[in-house]
Amino acid sequence: MKRKLATIAVRGGLNSDEQYGCVVPPIHLSSTYNFADFNQPRAHDYSRRGNPTRDIAQAALAELEGGSRAVLTSSGMSAIHLVCTVLLKPGDLLVAPHDCYGGSYRLFDSLSRRGAYRVLFIDQGDEKALAEAMAQNPKLVLIESPSNPLLRVVDIEKICQAAHQAGALTVVDNTFLSPILQQPISLGADIVIHSCTKYLNGHSDVVAGVVITKDDELGVEMAWWANNIGVTAAAFDSYLLLRGLRTLAPRMRQQQINADAVVAYLQQQPQVKKLYHPSLPDNQGHEIACKQQSGFGAMLSFELAGDEQTMRRFLAALDLFTLAESLGGVESLISHAATMTHAGMVEEARKAAGISDSLLRISVGIEDSEDLIADLEQAFRASA
Ligand SMILES: *Cc1c(COP(=O)(O)O)cnc(C)c1O
Repeated sequence: MKRKLATIAVRGGLNSDEQYGCVVPPIHLSSTYNFADFNQPRAHDYSRRGNPTRDIAQAALAELEGGSRAVLTSSGMSAIHLVCTVLLKPGDLLVAPHDCYGGSYRLFDSLSRRGAYRVLFIDQGDEKALAEAMAQNPKLVLIESPSNPLLRVVDIEKICQAAHQAGALTVVDNTFLSPILQQPISLGADIVIHSCTKYLNGHSDVVAGVVITKDDELGVEMAWWANNIGVTAAAFDSYLLLRGLRTLAPRMRQQQINADAVVAYLQQQPQVKKLYHPSLPDNQGHEIACKQQSGFGAMLSFELAGDEQTMRRFLAALDLFTLAESLGGVESLISHAATMTHAGMVEEARKAAGISDSLLRISVGIEDSEDLIADLEQAFRASA
C-alpha cells in the first residue's frame, strides 16, 4: 500500500544510520570524504555535489511530491533560477504569471533584459491570453497557484495540457500549499519547485529551495547543474528542513483551521474592504481550488479601509502578527505587499496585477485562533 503523506513526512530517513542505530539520522557536516583507496571514490566525494544529510531530505521531498528526484538548493530563488538555467537558452520564451512572486518577477525581468531568455507575463486565468502565449512556442511555463498575494487560483491541469501541446515543459511553484494540499505532478506538471523557507521547513529558521522533477533524467540534469553552478543546500539547512518536514501535515492542518477562523472573523469586520482567500466563493478560482487542492491553505489577504495613517495604526497595534516578510512558519506574520513583498515590482505592474496600496497579507500560524482574533479585534479598534 502506498504510504500517506503524513507518514512519508515523519519517516524520512529514520533508522538509516548503520553505525550507531540512531533513530534520527545524524547530520553530516563534512565538506569532503576520503577515498577508500587510490582511484576508489565512495558514494560521496565533496558536499557541494552530494551530502548524506541532503540526500535524505531530497528523497523525502521527492516522495512527498510524487516525483522521481529532488535537488535541494540554497533558496527558493536559486531553485527557480536553476530550472531556468537548465531549460532556457537565449531567445527561448518563458511564460510566467503576471502576479507571480515578486522575487521571481524581478529575476525574470532582470535576466530577460540581459538576454538570458525572453519572458512573457500573462494572466493565466485568461483563456485568450493563455492561447496567444502558447502560440508563441514557449519552452517553459511557470505556474503559481494560489498566487501571491491575491490568492488567485488557476487550473494547473488545463495549463499543463496547453503547454504540452505547445511543446513546453511546465514548472509549478507549490510554495503556498505544500504537497499536503496540492500535488502538481499528479495534475500534469513536469517540475515542482518550492521555497522550503516557508511551509516545508515551517519554523522561519532556514532559507532553502527545492526542484523536484517527474522525470528521472531531467532530475539528474538538475543535480548536475546545481553542483556546476554551486547552488546546492548546506548540510545544516538540510538537517533543519528534514526536522521541520516531520510535522508538516499537522502544522498545515492547524494553520488551515486557524485561517478559516480568521477568515470568518474578517468577513464580518466593516474595516475590511476586500478579503481574499480561496475558500471564499467569490474568490477568483474558488471552483478550481475545490477541484485541484485538498485544502484552501492558510494564506489570506485583505484591503484595509482608510488611509496610510489607519494602516500604520493598525499594524502598530498588532501584537500576535509580526510585520515581516515570508510565510508558512508556526508564528503568524503580516506583510504589506506594496512596500515589502512586491516592492521589486514597478508600480504599473503592481496595479495591473491588482495589488493595491492598502493590501495586507497574513500568514496564519498555529497559535490559538481565539488569541489571534482578539488581537485583530483590538488592532481594528485602535486604528479606527
Ligand atoms: C518566498 C518565495 C519564493 C522565493 O523563495 P526564497 O526561499 O525566499 O528564495 C518563491 N516563490 C514563492 C511563492 C515564495 O513565497
